[in-house]
Amino acid sequence: MPKATALMISLSLAISASARADEGAHWAYDGHGGPEHWAELSKDFSMCGLGRNQSPVNLAGAVPSSLAAIRFDYPLETSEIVNNGHTVQINIAPGSAIDADGHHYLLKQVHFHTPSENQIDGKSFAAEAHFVHADADGNLAVVAVLFDDGAASPGLAALDPAMPDRTGQHRPVQARNAIAALLPPSRDYFEYSGSLTTPPCSEGVRWLVMKQPMTISPVQREALARIMHGPNNRPVQPLNARLVLD
Ligand SMILES: [Zn+2]
Repeated sequence: MPKATALMISLSLAISASARADEGAHWAYDGHGGPEHWAELSKDFSMCGLGRNQSPVNLAGAVPSSLAAIRFDYPLETSEIVNNGHTVQINIAPGSAIDADGHHYLLKQVHFHTPSENQIDGKSFAAEAHFVHADADGNLAVVAVLFDDGAASPGLAALDPAMPDRTGQHRPVQARNAIAALLPPSRDYFEYSGSLTTPPCSEGVRWLVMKQPMTISPVQREALARIMHGPNNRPVQPLNARLVLD
């Protein structure tokens, strides 16, 4: 094997090994590392079992509450697209933000799940995109977009050439228009208080779930599921004492 090739292989192995180490205990969507075992995998994951405000949920029985419009300030300069073995994630360069109820959150990354994690009135969707934001104190707000089976998503079609097939793969990407095309024209939303849907399942996450679903073609859904080793959806969690706001 030529030296350069050997070096590249060992570098890529080192990168994927460090990506795994950063995630802590190995977790998955099925088998011994599956969602019902997440809390047992590490003491850092205890909220996955003990939490009372976990995500995703079935959004049902929403309480009318005239939520203020979310203000999107989304230049959407992207930096790279990453396959981390659990999802495909587009990292967003600093400068995109939302304002929700007078609270300012910076957009950090956008990633995908298939099928959807959240449900509406018991309906599961073909896919879901999560726009993950954080405020200056690290409080998180996730804008969720649901995708029904139907016409191809122009946003996903534009991302397709850059999609990283293998775990640990990073690629530079300019995907401003692609990311913008993932958002529905109507920005009406449901809101509830929840958690990360992956370990460590930390709570205090503001969930802003867009009511208008977008569409994804069966071919796109299958391609996403293949590269994300899907299905990659945590089952819905009990609402307990929480209200869903409409
Ligand atoms: Zn997610």
